[in-house]
Amino acid sequence: ATKARGTKVAAGFALGLEGAEMGKVVTRFPPEPSGYLHIGHAKAAMLNQYFAKMYQGKLIIRFDDTNPSKERSEFEETILEDLELLEIRGDVVTHTSDYFDQLYELAIKMIESGKAYADDTEREQMQHERREGIASAHRNDSIEDNLKHFAEMKTGSTEGLRWCVRAKMSVDDPNKALRDPVIYRCNPLPHHRTGAQWKIYPTYDFACPMVDSIEGVTHALRTNEYRDRNPQYWWMIDALGLRKVKIWDFSRLNFIYTLLSKRKLHEFVNNGQVRGWDDPRFPTVRGIRRRGLAVEALRQFMLLQGPSQAIVSLEWDTIWALNKKVVDPIAPRHWAIIEDNKVPVTIKGGPSGVEVKSLPKHKKNPDVGEKKTVYSSTILVDQEDAKSFEDQEEITLMDWGNAIVRSKSVDSSGNVTSIEMDLHLQGDFKKTKKKITWLAQPSSEHPLIPVTLLDYDYLITKKKLEENDSIKDFITPVTEFKELALADANVKDLKKGDYLQFERKGYFIFDGENKEDGRLEFIRIPDGKAANLA
Ligand code: ATP
Ligand code: MG
Ligand code: MG
Repeated sequence: ATKARGTKVAAGFALGLEGAEMGKVVTRFPPEPSGYLHIGHAKAAMLNQYFAKMYQGKLIIRFDDTNPSKERSEFEETILEDLELLEIRGDVVTHTSDYFDQLYELAIKMIESGKAYADDTEREQMQHERREGIASAHRNDSIEDNLKHFAEMKTGSTEGLRWCVRAKMSVDDPNKALRDPVIYRCNPLPHHRTGAQWKIYPTYDFACPMVDSIEGVTHALRTNEYRDRNPQYWWMIDALGLRKVKIWDFSRLNFIYTLLSKRKLHEFVNNGQVRGWDDPRFPTVRGIRRRGLAVEALRQFMLLQGPSQAIVSLEWDTIWALNKKVVDPIAPRHWAIIEDNKVPVTIKGGPSGVEVKSLPKHKKNPDVGEKKTVYSSTILVDQEDAKSFEDQEEITLMDWGNAIVRSKSVDSSGNVTSIEMDLHLQGDFKKTKKKITWLAQPSSEHPLIPVTLLDYDYLITKKKLEENDSIKDFITPVTEFKELALADANVKDLKKGDYLQFERKGYFIFDGENKEDGRLEFIRIPDGKAANLA
């Protein structure tokens, strides 16, 4: 399967970027500083980085900050941190607002050359006219009038605020994106970088092609929902005689049971449905990294998706299955026993005192290091395992040897309360059905570590929310599950963010110590079991 995937990636990207020259490619990732990055943004950012690297070119991180109603400096910092979590560093960080003077000059130029006009048509009326292909009453106003209105807009006066500037592209082109789009609008709110200096701001449709061209972008990567707007993008550049930019479009990423819109994510945070932007249930870069998604797996996944134009809701299983292949070879193996109803087992023929052995943390990868395993004549096993043992059954105690179950005490509710076993080290582990994990009964000298195993469910109950669906009808009532366990003392060596496997339980990521109960917390990493990678 690995080989097939490799080929697929290579085939998709054999196309590369049209007209790309080694050393001369410039790409850009243009987030709006209005929230945290999510997995969809990660796709855009990673593809931009991929092509910049592939052609030994340059990646620009551009904050697209043209709407003071939504943007804040705080989000610039957090977005840079998010990019860092994705191991993406731009060659430069710029802002659309760095070009407000130039953009203003370009808008004047457009008006002066008769390619743009000021308009005060009411919003709804304008929508109606654009839909029906009706010309605005101001479409043929004189250049002097247009300049006068634009100047009024610039002052932010009550009169000015009523106006906007529109490109004079087309009244009734079948492509509605070309029907005189707005290129400048007013906003009296202070901007997080330019303060009160401007009362007018360029729209994305205007600023994006202009700044791409000014900054030397050779290939603008855009999601294909903008395809209708490509001719509009080129029109803007032509209208001002600027350097041309190639557009490479890719599909927007969506996942089942997942909302990927900043506005909706803001709602979840504000309503307390998640604990914050880094909640492991969240599709934010912070959330998925915290849940244990490795950058390498994300990158592989995004490159697999790379050239696809299909807009579909993807399954999470696929990405988690890729992730497992990244995590498995490096995750140290530890053991944990569920605290509730754990079963003490007396081992006859075991060590009289306590013995400690050094064992590899990963049987196939010695680089992962060694751990200490404690052996004693009393051990703890999981209730679930204990229940499964038959009378006189020979089982294997992992990293130790075989043992024969001699007796089992069971309480009135059917729970096993204690077991006696005879060690049978000459027994063949290949012949036993059950290979179980266990931990030596803790002592003051060899304690076990109280841990919490956390698992999560999707936040919403519907695979794909439709436009008219109200989120509150589809909130999963309980999405966090906790299990208390005891772990081997080696988990003390782990650092927050480290991967591990609790053998026979699953892959986890260490999330640090809980301040309230002092327990170490481990988040289960989904392993994409249902995914079919072949
Ligand atoms: P949202 O709709 O979540 O607010 P946005 O598109 O408005 O996202 P931006 O900050 O403007 O957010 O996006 C930065 C870049 O990320 C853009 O190039 C955009 O196309 C890309 N992007 C955003 N969401 C996705 C997605 N789901 N899949 C792929 N690329 C995306
Ligand atoms: Mg946007
Ligand atoms: Mg958007």
